Parts: sequence; C-alpha cells; structure tokens
Amino acid sequence: MSFPHLLDPITVGGVTLRNRTVMGSMHTGMEDRAKHLPELAAYFAERARGGAGLIVTGGYSPNVRGWLLPFASMMTSRRHADAHRQVTGAVHDEGGAIALQLLHAGRYGYTPLNVSASASTSPITPFKASALSTRGVERTVGDFVDAARLARRAGYDGVEVMGSEGYLVNQFLSARTNRRSDRWGGSAENRMRFPVEIVRRVREALGDDFLVMYRMSLLDLVPDGQTWDETVELARRVEAAGASVINTGIGWHEARVPTILTQVPAAAWVSTTARLRPEVGIPVCASNRINTPELAEQVLASGGADLVSMARPFLADPDFVRKAAEGRADEINTCIACNQACLDHTFANQRASCLVNPRAGRETTLVLAPTRTAKQVAVVGAGPAGLAAAAAVAERGHRVTVFEAADRVGGQFRLAMAVPGKEEFAETLRYYTRRLDVLGAEVRLGTRPTVTELTPYDEVVVATGVLPRQVTFDGADHPSVVSYADVLSGRVVPGRRVAVVGAGGIGVDVSVFLTHTEEDLDEWLAHWGVGDPALHAGGVTEKKPRTPAREVVLLQRKTTAIGKGLGKTSGWAHRTVLRDSGVEQVPGVTYDRVDDDGLHVTLADGSTRTFAVDHVVVCAGQESERTLYDDLLAAGVTAHLVGGADVAAELDAKRAIRQATELAVAL
Ligand code: NAP
Ligand code: SF4
Repeated sequence: MSFPHLLDPITVGGVTLRNRTVMGSMHTGMEDRAKHLPELAAYFAERARGGAGLIVTGGYSPNVRGWLLPFASMMTSRRHADAHRQVTGAVHDEGGAIALQLLHAGRYGYTPLNVSASASTSPITPFKASALSTRGVERTVGDFVDAARLARRAGYDGVEVMGSEGYLVNQFLSARTNRRSDRWGGSAENRMRFPVEIVRRVREALGDDFLVMYRMSLLDLVPDGQTWDETVELARRVEAAGASVINTGIGWHEARVPTILTQVPAAAWVSTTARLRPEVGIPVCASNRINTPELAEQVLASGGADLVSMARPFLADPDFVRKAAEGRADEINTCIACNQACLDHTFANQRASCLVNPRAGRETTLVLAPTRTAKQVAVVGAGPAGLAAAAAVAERGHRVTVFEAADRVGGQFRLAMAVPGKEEFAETLRYYTRRLDVLGAEVRLGTRPTVTELTPYDEVVVATGVLPRQVTFDGADHPSVVSYADVLSGRVVPGRRVAVVGAGGIGVDVSVFLTHTEEDLDEWLAHWGVGDPALHAGGVTEKKPRTPAREVVLLQRKTTAIGKGLGKTSGWAHRTVLRDSGVEQVPGVTYDRVDDDGLHVTLADGSTRTFAVDHVVVCAGQESERTLYDDLLAAGVTAHLVGGADVAAELDAKRAIRQATELAVAL
C-alpha cells in the first residue's frame, strides 16, 4: 500500500512539514534535568531520522506554579533555552521539525504550589490547588508568552499550547472547575478568554513565522465539560487569535472512560475530529488510537483530518514513516497500546520506554552495534523473549536459528491476543516474524532440540517460557477444572457459569474473555457512557448496561482488593469492565474442593460457600519451564536464560523483551 495523503508535505505557521505525521507529546522523564538533554536529543533525532513530520516535546511549564512535579520541566530562562539547542539542532540535522509543548498542570500538579482557576483538588492528585488571583491569571498568560519566546530562542519551530486532558487551560474552560466571577470566569465567553489570550499574545509576540498549535479537548468526558457549541466557538476564536493548527485531545485525565488503551476501538475518536474540521479554516490534527500508516492514511484520505498525531507509535518504532514510505509497512513494530512501559512508567515517575521496543528512551545506552565476530546462536522458544532475543542478536550480525516446539510462534502472547481488546498483540508477532525473515534468521517450528543438537552452537539462549501452575486442592483433577491456556486457546469452551481461580492479570483477562460479547464502536461508546457532546456536556451520559455472556465469579486467596496489581494507567479500566459485566469478586477464600456440585470454598469470615459452576478456570500463575536448561547445564553447555523461563513470578512481556535485548547487546 502507498500512503499519498500521509506523505504529502504541508506548510503550517511558516514551517514546512515533510509529511502529515505529528509525533505527539509524551513525557519521557528526560525533560526534567539538563543532564538528560543529550539523551532526549538522541531520542528525538532517531525519530526525526525515521521520518517523523513534526515532533512535539513533552510538556514544559511556563512557571513554577505549573509544575507537573516538584522541579519538573519548565522553560523559564535563557539558560533553559540555550540548553535546548542541542535538542532542536539534533532534530533539524535530521531534516525534522520540532515544537515545544507548553503545559501548565493546574490542579493536576503533584506539588503543594499548584494553582487552578478556582480552589479545588482533582480526584487524581492529593494537593489542593489555590485559586489564581486576577493578576495571577494575567501573569500566567504572560508566562506562556515568555516561554514561547524562549522556545524560539532555543531553536524550536513552534509551540503547542496544551489545552486538553484536563490541565490548567481546561480548568479555566469548564464550569466544573472554574467558579470565578472576574473576566476569566462565569460566562462561556469569559471561560474561553484564558486560552484565547494565550494564543493571541503568543502570536503577537512571535510574528507570523512561528508554528502555534493549540491542543484542544474535543470531548472532556467529565460531567460539566464543554458542550459541542462551546468547543466549536473556542476553535474559531483560537483560529482568529492566530493558531496555525488545532491538535485534538480526548478526555481529561480524571475521566473514567479509557481513551487510548488497547481495548479502545481503533480510530475511535476520529469522527469527532472530522466534525470539527469544517468549522475552522486551519488544519486539524487527529489523535488517539491511530497506530498504523494504513489507519492514518485512511483518516486523512476520508477527510477526517489534515494531520495525524501519534505519540506511542513513535516510541514503538522510530522508523514508522520511513518504513511506510519505502513500502515496508509490514516491518513496522506496532504500538499495542498496552501503556505498560510508557504511561505506566511516567505515572510511576520512571523513565518512559516501550514494551515492544526497550531501546526507546535508551538510545545512547542500549545499542545493537554490529558484531565483529559473527557467532552461531541458537534460540530455543519463540515467545516474546525468544523472538526479541533472536531479532536483536540477528540485527547485530550473528547467525541465528530459532527452535519452537509449537507449530506457530508467540508463546503466552498468542494466548493474550485472544483476550478481547488485546487482539493487536498479534501485530507484535507479525513484526518479529517479518523481522527474523528480513534478517535471515532460520525458524524451525514444531521442533524440540536436544542437548546434542545444541552443543555445536557458539551461544544458546533458552527462552522456553512457562507452564501454568497446577493447583493442589481436592478435585483439581475433576473434569470441570481447566486451565486458562485451555480456555484462551479455544480448546475448551466453558459453560454458562464459571469460577475463575486466581485474580492476577490473567484471571482478570480470562474473566473479561468469558463475559465479553461482541460490540461495535457505537456499542462500545454506549457501554462507557460516551454521548453526543451536542446533547450532553462533555460527552458524558448514562452508561448502557452490559449483557455478559456468562456468570463469572473471580476468586483469590489474598484479602486485598481484586485487581490491585494491574497496570497503573489501565487497571481501573479493567476493574470497571469486570464490575459492569457483573463479575462477582471474592477475595480471601480458601479453596476446599471441586466436585459435581461445583467449587466449595471457605470465606474470609470462616463461613463456607459453594459456587455451582460448570467450569473452574485455573489462573494461578506460572512456573518456569527449565527442563532443557537444566539438561544443558548437566551436559556442561553454557546457556543464557531469558523471559519466563528465567523468572516466572513476574512473567511479563516487558521484562522478557528488555532482558532479551540486553542479552543481545552483551553477546
Ligand atoms: P499472577 O499475577 O502471579 O497471579 C496468579 C494468581 O493466582 C495470584 O494472584 C495468586 O493469588 C493465585 N495463586 C497463586 N498460586 C496459587 C495456587 N497454588 N492456588 C490457587 N491460586 C494461586 O499470574 P498471572 O495472572 O498468570 O499473570 C502473570 C503475569 O502476566 C503477570 O505478572 C503480569 O505481568 C502479566 N499480565 C499482565 C496483565 C496486565 O493487565 N497488565 C494481564 C495479563 C498478564 P492468591 O495467592 O491471592 O490466590
Ligand atoms: Fe505502545 Fe505499549 Fe510501547 Fe507504550 S509500551 S508505546 S503502549 S507498545
């Protein structure tokens, strides 16, 4: 497929972008300290080299009161600006363009200094924000202008004013958070004054040859959010004030609707961008859940937007655009919207990376340099760890043979992609399969190599994965007791009533799998209570109840709340689906037995209960499969263990892929 719309240049704010892609803003953790700027420069330079049209940095506050965290990134002095020249220079050297995002966190600031339109505490931060005085508002507008001036001094091609996701600008726009009675509050017109003044004064100060992008919240997804009329009016005013482009955002951070997770249907929000586009004369940029060049091309070709913003897809593959342009789209390492190594890290105050690309954020330290002495390397097991090891080792120039006992690659990932909302995990397997093919690695399916067959190799990597843990309670061998692998692989189709034993990530996934019924985009939106913003302010309406496919009870022995260990930015959404699907959650149980009457347990209060179920699905974790490794050791063959075969307790693809890549660097 070719991508004529995606690869078409466009000039905005005096800056010619070589294509329609925008690498959306994402805080990586490299923004906050000057000592990390060389790494930030390398990170952006790699994406510019890979063809990204316009890069937008993570958020920089225009003043101390707008910090995301104490001492977080800001652009407030010439010293800051001059230090950033290395970042902008690195991007320009690669033919790219870069804008600095100006983000005032408002009441989302995780600091006691935070301020907002009115005094309030957000549901997602502990610090109560104080209200800005009228002079304070005016000073803040001035700080945005000063920061934009400094951005130009630093060599940035423009700025993006962050007016979405619930930060300070939104806090002014919405009656939910703006209860002011001065000229910055009250009527819709007054509430819009803050962003419009920022854009107007930035444009006035910087002249025509500077890109001013305004990121607008198209759907707030919180009660008392903006109405559609207000959104359109704001877009027109921002345009009149001098914005060059309107970028779009969906949902405040405190919204209880997932907007970018895997379970959100692809391009779910594009129709809202398309609805805004005819209302303004400047280019409009679509964002959220667009992760392939095919989808981006479709959005542009259908007239849904003029540009497409993708943040995480550029973490997953810095060469996204170049591969698309060279007819190698099938070689793109696709972002699977898991959030596990990017946003989960950011919200835990760790450096952002990517589950499928552990080099993201470590461009200068995790380098797959060509080897001087090519070795023969055997990789046993083709789950995520084995595939990642094989690809990285082959990329360095070693000769690789992959052995996989099953007739297909994928291991536990193949099970994960059966879970509703995780279908895109298949893209990772497509990527590795293609990558190994391009690199000339040999893949032998349906093969269990013996120690003797492996002995001649210079290096042996054992990635034999895990086996589901067996439970030991009475009746564990009853015909109704099956494992999660049986269910997710389709070998067993459970009956109407099911008990799930073990409530880790897989127990939750299996419960979703068992209760899920097919839903199209409209139904998905209805299940999450997303309505037409022309009828419901903020696009929030009553949720349509789900009709679960089965009655499911999810149990664990721990007395803690179920689902506590799930991802920081995704766990709440999984827990909501469980609740909305009527999954009964029972912590603190002791499993007594399974018999023809069902599953018998003792509850935390000492009483007993029988769940009359057709099947009991065991999701009790895994144990490492190390038979081959032990045999190799016994025979005196040195081997490297990676992934679940190394540590099953925290079996997770993020660790497996990172560990495998680090091993490849060392071989
Ligand atoms: P897990 O997280 O270790 O959970 C297994 C659960 O089974 C434990 O919570 C434990 O709870 C229970 N259990 C352990 N031994 C048992 C026994 N002998 N009898 C009965 N129950 C037992 O493992 P998992 O759910 O298989 O997930 C594995 C890994 O996959 C996770 O660590 C995660 O990294 C990854 N994963 C993540 C996600 C995600 O959403 N991010 C989704 C799927 C998988 P009690 O001891 O309290 O009963
Ligand atoms: Fe995408 Fe997951 Fe990588 Fe984040 S960690 S960029 S969501 S694949």
